[in-house]
Amino acid sequence: MKNVGDVGDLCTGCGTCAAMCPLESVVMRIDHDRGVYEPLVDGECDGCGVCLRVCPGVGVDFTDLNMRVFGREPDDMLMGNYEECYIAHSRDDELRYGASSGGMISQILIYLLEEGLIDGALVTRMNPERPLEPEPFIARTPSEIIESRGSKYCPVPANVALKEILEVPGRYAVVGLPCHIHGVRKAEVISRKLRERIVYHLGIVCNHTPSFRATEFLLERLGVDPGDVKSIRYRGEGWPGSLRVETESGDLLLLLPEYWGSGFGQLFMPERCRLCADHMAELSDISFADPWLKELKDEKKGRTLIIQRKNHGIIEGSDGLCEIEPIQASKVITSQIYNLYMKKKVYQRGNDLYRTVFPKIDIIDRLIALIYPQNLRIPRKLMLKYMAIYQIIVTLKARRDFLR
Ligand SMILES: Cc1cc2nc3c(=O)[nH]c(=O)nc-3n(C[C@H](O)[C@H](O)[C@H](O)COP(=O)(O)OP(=O)(O)OC[C@H]3O[C@@H](n4cnc5c(N)ncnc54)[C@H](O)[C@@H]3O)c2cc1C
Repeated sequence: MKNVGDVGDLCTGCGTCAAMCPLESVVMRIDHDRGVYEPLVDGECDGCGVCLRVCPGVGVDFTDLNMRVFGREPDDMLMGNYEECYIAHSRDDELRYGASSGGMISQILIYLLEEGLIDGALVTRMNPERPLEPEPFIARTPSEIIESRGSKYCPVPANVALKEILEVPGRYAVVGLPCHIHGVRKAEVISRKLRERIVYHLGIVCNHTPSFRATEFLLERLGVDPGDVKSIRYRGEGWPGSLRVETESGDLLLLLPEYWGSGFGQLFMPERCRLCADHMAELSDISFADPWLKELKDEKKGRTLIIQRKNHGIIEGSDGLCEIEPIQASKVITSQIYNLYMKKKVYQRGNDLYRTVFPKIDIIDRLIALIYPQNLRIPRKLMLKYMAIYQIIVTLKARRDFLR
């Protein structure tokens, strides 16, 4: 089997090519050395090029896609196009407690299903047979939505499930990281079926997806053999939640956010994430984030930050099921300040500089993306402290633990 196109490290592993290949010849396989998914050609290929046309890895034309989706380019460089921001949580305590933040993605999907506004939603659960692998699928019942709640901090080829949307008529919502939404939007450009059938695009704010090696690292910390894992859940049990691993022998192990949420994931960041400048899922209809705000440091149950980019009336419609309050956009920016500035100022600048100065030297791109001081306009002392001290200590500690 050979790789799709000549995409190499640019692949985001989103799975769009696998769903869109007219000959159904593309499969997503895990590259265990790198700990990421890669698309392989497994069958006939007539060189039609659809896989590359829908590939978000090779590039995303934000100007063109913003014009298609919102009819205008964004005024706000950090937020993208948006109308209102909210802070919210589901009124269903059980749902909220087991979700990532306030359970708003799941609650909205349940509302859309129950109101008959959609027939299904593209979501992701962990595979019951292979518990360390994600399983994207089309959920058609509230219980399937609940089963899929919670963030998966491993590579997810979510867009392979677009295939079912192409095959089965209906109205659908899709849930995905920025790179998944990029793939969906690019696929919609060439597929009328997808344009008509996908009626809601729910985007997850994302700094990066840790590779599978991050999960291996965490299991090693817990002293668990990967072959012994019966189930894994990365978030849940309140906010910000804990990693929970159940083993075949019945042990239940928890890893608290102080450790696994401490930035160690940066060690396992796939190459492609260092080139991504979209933190806020700017091409979604609504984006969802954790509320990393000083005033919410004592929050235990969880609340979700929401950026409404297009008003479909679903925030108002789901009001009875959720507690929703408007919030200033500046608060949303504050809650993501470090990651946002890294993406917009360091990664994006790195990309621009690379394209202009070093069009052919790949390694330079990576180095530029890694040079923090390039961002001379960082406004906050706190961020400087974080980058200069905390990040280095955490990274060294994680590296030491990993090599021990
Ligand atoms: C890899 C990753 C990185 C993130 N980085 C940030 C960040 O930097 N800052 C921040 O504020 N928030 C980040 N988040 C978002 C945050 O963890 C929550 O997803 C968000 O607050 C919504 O919470 P919720 O309770 O409303 O969602 P829930 O109701 O728990 O629903 C989550 C939904 O997302 C889907 N999903 C989960 N993981 C994935 C995945 N990897 N790929 C595709 N679909 C998935 C689930 O199937 C489910 O439908 C990240 C999430 C992920 C998965």
